[in-house]
Amino acid sequence: MADNWYPIIDYDKCTGCLTCANFCPHGVYDASEGKPKVVKPEECVEFCRGCQRICPAGAISYFGDS
Ligand code: SF4
Ligand code: SF4
Repeated sequence: MADNWYPIIDYDKCTGCLTCANFCPHGVYDASEGKPKVVKPEECVEFCRGCQRICPAGAISYFGDS
């Protein structure tokens, strides 16, 4: 679990498809307000790029990625 690695969503690109929130098995996202929101960044798995890979809009980057 990572305090130094978690997704950042570019809401200008995000379409609100919720693919990322439905995919992540760790409860990092909350999707109850339409667009996904990162609510548990500490549950994100360090260096996982699962949600970035499946985001059709290319809207996900990571805090901690350099
Ligand atoms: S998968 Fe990408 S476009 Fe879809 S809700 Fe997540 S960030 Fe937005
Ligand atoms: S990077 Fe992996 S663990 Fe982190 S939110 Fe995306 S799918 Fe979940």
